[in-house]
Amino acid sequence: MKKIKITQGMKQVKKLLWPETCPFCGKVYAEGLCPACRQTVEKLLVREPRCMKCGKPVRYKEQEFCSDCTRVRHIYDRGAALWIHKNPVSKSIYQFKYHNQRFYAEYYAEQFVWQYKELITGWAPQVILPVPLHARKRRNRGCNQAELLAEELGKRLKLPVCGNLVKRVRFTSPQKALDHTKRKKNLEQAFALSAPVRGLRRALIVDDIYTTGSTIDAVAKVLKQAGVQKVYFLTVSIGQGD
Ligand SMILES: [Zn+2]
Ligand SMILES: [Zn+2]
Repeated sequence: MKKIKITQGMKQVKKLLWPETCPFCGKVYAEGLCPACRQTVEKLLVREPRCMKCGKPVRYKEQEFCSDCTRVRHIYDRGAALWIHKNPVSKSIYQFKYHNQRFYAEYYAEQFVWQYKELITGWAPQVILPVPLHARKRRNRGCNQAELLAEELGKRLKLPVCGNLVKRVRFTSPQKALDHTKRKKNLEQAFALSAPVRGLRRALIVDDIYTTGSTIDAVAKVLKQAGVQKVYFLTVSIGQGD
């Protein structure tokens, strides 16, 4: 009884010192997700019907792939994202990226489990791999946000996380300004494995944003060349496409 009281007291103190904030707009809100963001984010949640490849929403149930995946032959097998990359999701990811907050990683990981537990169980990945940052970028930013996300997800799914298996061997210029062909070129040979992967058959890559899929493909390529048979991905957000 006494012990419970102390724990509750600690929780109260913790709440006073670090009040809950909304993971989208950053405002202090006792329940975390604030009502305004709850409403907007609901609409941005990626729902069925989804593309069988990238997981992006498609217009019709009969539609197997989105128009992007009809055009591009991806190296990864399949993936899913939580939300469409629009405000306040984009704002949330920006905070996550540049403010090193485990808080966001925990929130996203919970959402992944809530929305995709069955899908992930079906994929049966043996390991979770964050998309690595180049050492220089990692130093500047203090940490790799994809790694935080992978760790939180690993804890909840009871899966091992291997943060340094895939490494970035070339410093790539920012992807934002490039079109698909240039992105692909930019990423070719950007990744390598730091160790052999004997026995690894199914891997799950984790990143914050899926834009064209070229980053996931580049990581999937080194894994498949090393004998991994299935490569899946999860990202916090995904571009809407058409
Ligand atoms: Zn909010
Ligand atoms: Zn697709």
